[in-house]
Amino acid sequence: MLQSASDALPLAGSPGTPIAPPLREAAPGEARSAPARVMPGRAGSSSAPRVVIIGSGFGGLACAIRMLCKGYRVTVLERLDQPGGRASVFTQDGFTFDAGPTIVTAPFLLEELWALAGRRFADDVDLRPMNPCYRIRFDDGTHFDYQREPQAMIEEVRRVSPQDVGGLHAFMAEADRCFRLGYEDLGTVAFESLGDLFAALPAMVRMRAWRSIYQMASRHFKSEKLRQVFSFHPLLIGGNPMSVTSVYSLIPSLERIHGVHSAMGGTGAIVRGMAKLIVELGGEIRLGADVARIRVVDQRARGVILASGERVDADIVVSNADTAWTYKHLLKAEPRRVWNDRKVERAAYSMGLFVWYFGTRRRYPDVPHHMILLGPRYRELLGDIFDRKVLADDFSLYLHRPTATDPSLAPEGCDTFYVLSPVPHLDAGIDWASRAEPYRQRIAQMLGDTVLPGLSEAICTQRYLTPADFESRYLAFKGAAFGMEPKLLQSAWFRPHNRSEDIRDLYLVGASTHPGAGIPGVLTSAKVLDSIIPPAARVVRAQAVR
Ligand SMILES: Cc1cc2nc3c(=O)[nH]c(=O)nc-3n(C[C@H](O)[C@H](O)[C@H](O)COP(=O)(O)OP(=O)(O)OC[C@H]3O[C@@H](n4cnc5c(N)ncnc54)[C@H](O)[C@@H]3O)c2cc1C
Repeated sequence: MLQSASDALPLAGSPGTPIAPPLREAAPGEARSAPARVMPGRAGSSSAPRVVIIGSGFGGLACAIRMLCKGYRVTVLERLDQPGGRASVFTQDGFTFDAGPTIVTAPFLLEELWALAGRRFADDVDLRPMNPCYRIRFDDGTHFDYQREPQAMIEEVRRVSPQDVGGLHAFMAEADRCFRLGYEDLGTVAFESLGDLFAALPAMVRMRAWRSIYQMASRHFKSEKLRQVFSFHPLLIGGNPMSVTSVYSLIPSLERIHGVHSAMGGTGAIVRGMAKLIVELGGEIRLGADVARIRVVDQRARGVILASGERVDADIVVSNADTAWTYKHLLKAEPRRVWNDRKVERAAYSMGLFVWYFGTRRRYPDVPHHMILLGPRYRELLGDIFDRKVLADDFSLYLHRPTATDPSLAPEGCDTFYVLSPVPHLDAGIDWASRAEPYRQRIAQMLGDTVLPGLSEAICTQRYLTPADFESRYLAFKGAAFGMEPKLLQSAWFRPHNRSEDIRDLYLVGASTHPGAGIPGVLTSAKVLDSIIPPAARVVRAQAVR
């Protein structure tokens, strides 16, 4: 039966809910978005200061591991029935669906977390490199296999457009420079002061950050197909390739240097590994714990109040909830000098996503794990999504077939899929209750006509998420799938800072703070917090002096 995912995701305790550590009931009577449960940890030192983290997305979980390693007692409060946020998992009719991220880059950031805790990532998660990284299918039926290995990439460019081989070298040289300057040098800078911004200006000039990534790709490639292949990457983090800074060419460089990977068992296996690590380090993850507001005393965050009325005290509060939502709703009664409601409203937000999850009773062995299907229009479609905010008749899609790598994610002889289509966020006023099903049917028709013949007869289970579901399920402001749009003037110092500019002892981690969305971005935001939150022992000494 077809259903919107918001009312059909597995509830706590339902058979097959894929959470690794044992769970026990939390305090009764906490009515909220999901029944309350606790992933219990060893109690930390009872005198250690406590960090409360709102949300268990990749950013929140990474922050929890880092704060535990710094000596804090850590409690993660998650309103859903499982950790992971956008990376949550649901199972249906024997199929396992990763709800969100599937392309895993920068595995070194995950390895680093495990190493901090004295463990080995590879002992908990089996990450497999993808080769080729993914296939990009053009509307005329031809394709480009995006290769990691340099010689294979040259051959692929030569096959599509022989005159562009020289351009590939020039593009990758620039992209590598953006990776070194934009990610390695600036990614972990906290950007707390104008001084940090001024210090970054020479690097921004060297990266010619004022150009869009599409302009950069157009300078190096004559073929329009290759311009699209080497400029679409910002869409993976919610940005419009026509306006997002060319600094984000660091993504192709990151993919080439560190590879594109998939986790056996799905991305959910990484989330389960992180949750297990937190519990083993003595942290606690409370599921079904819906934070209604951040408690502020004398302009300092001192804990949170749950929707149930329960008060949870803390010395430091970290919000992994959507930043706009945090300021607008969790701090609504607090005077905010910088991120007041007007500024939050006026910021630009990423596009929304329509994500359709489906299982087929047959296999499609010719379809690779990751596939991008570009539609007939590129620039114009992006304009519809980001500028004009209309639901177009055509689309460009990302098709995910995890069973290409791990057949255990579907019943024998079957395939698990999801397909996502970038769409305008909720400001567009699209009535998803009536538009979703016809939209899904159009996508199904397109896939059936192209890469999945016989699809309509093969589907045996399905559900979808619309931007309206992103708002109600993840509390995503305007239903934006990736938080604040990564425009130049919404990046680095201009983005909401990791240390709140308005409330002391409040920190932000995740997609809408620095450096931005995507698994590498939010893992790096936790790393930034590690650099600005003092070790627990120093907080204890400061409290003793006060
Ligand atoms: C469909 C999709 C596909 C994607 N594909 C990729 C990909 O292939 N590769 C990649 O790198 N990135 C991808 N991304 C982006 C990536 O998933 C996100 O940027 C990243 O996971 C966001 O992590 P986060 O730490 O910001 O937290 P989120 O995942 O946004 O989690 C925040 C958590 O906070 C909780 N929360 C919010 N408010 C409250 C409250 N008041 N009380 C308690 N809890 C609260 C929410 O329930 C949620 O669990 C994709 C995203 C989507 C949606």
